[in-house]
Amino acid sequence: MNRVTYYWNESSLRHDTGRHVECIARAERLHPDKMKAHVPGIEVRPIVRHDAAQWILRVHEAEHHQFVQEAYARGYRRLDESDTIISEGSYEAALMAVDAALTAADEVMSGECQAAFCAMRPPGHHALPFMSMGFCLFANAAILARYLQEKHGVRRIAIVDWDVHHGNGTQNVFWEDPDVFFVSLHQHPLWPGSGLEWEKGEGAGEGATLNLIFPPGAEESVYLSRFEHEVVPAVRNHGPEFLIISAGFDSHFRDVLGNLKLTEEGYIQLTHMLRRVAEEICGGRIVSLLEGGYNLSALESSVAAHLSALSV
Ligand SMILES: [Zn+2]
Repeated sequence: MNRVTYYWNESSLRHDTGRHVECIARAERLHPDKMKAHVPGIEVRPIVRHDAAQWILRVHEAEHHQFVQEAYARGYRRLDESDTIISEGSYEAALMAVDAALTAADEVMSGECQAAFCAMRPPGHHALPFMSMGFCLFANAAILARYLQEKHGVRRIAIVDWDVHHGNGTQNVFWEDPDVFFVSLHQHPLWPGSGLEWEKGEGAGEGATLNLIFPPGAEESVYLSRFEHEVVPAVRNHGPEFLIISAGFDSHFRDVLGNLKLTEEGYIQLTHMLRRVAEEICGGRIVSLLEGGYNLSALESSVAAHLSALSV
């Protein structure tokens, strides 16, 4: 039995995006009481405040952080020209999402738990250093990686992003970084359109970015096979000391934004594969962060499946 901690906070209920797919109801579905009913073994832990803004500035430009911080008071109701919507509680929710990731990192590094899941919103993997986009305010996974490096002396990290959309923000941050291996599996064509397989990083980071694309309707068996034969060996080859998962559940067959065919059983298999490689090479240290997932019942059951596979 693996000790798995779970982080959730009411701040996620105050990031009000109205009638949008990335909505408050997603956080309600992931309330700790619900998740403990599905997976009794998880341990719900409080989030420790970390001066998140300081760590956000390790990845984001100061002007961008300030814009997000002040946007609502200045009358903005969205942060981009599309639908990255904000409300009065959005900045605080975004800080808390970062704090959850940093708390999870501390507790995994100290050995209090082997793995952790942060069921927080807004998500992060589309946020660029200089702008918010795709429902993402700050790049939670990238900030977590920088925190692990600076605070905990971890050098080599792998980030595996199985959201149905390309993790363009995370890729951007580590494009020339040889220490942080970033792999994204996503549907193509699909917004944001980037993440083609020739995108492999540049300079010292060449080869430390891996993109796997799947056409709409791709079978789950194909996805799982490529994960096993391409993603797992690449992660092992990088030799990370810590594994981060950008866990989007919009690759589920019932999702409203994607057209892939993953099932709860598929998420269990993905999680088991990553757990095995993490146990082999980095003491099983995993922090998994919620990204997308917009069919509410599929989101709830998929997160439960992921947690059960992390814990058993
Ligand atoms: Zn997504």
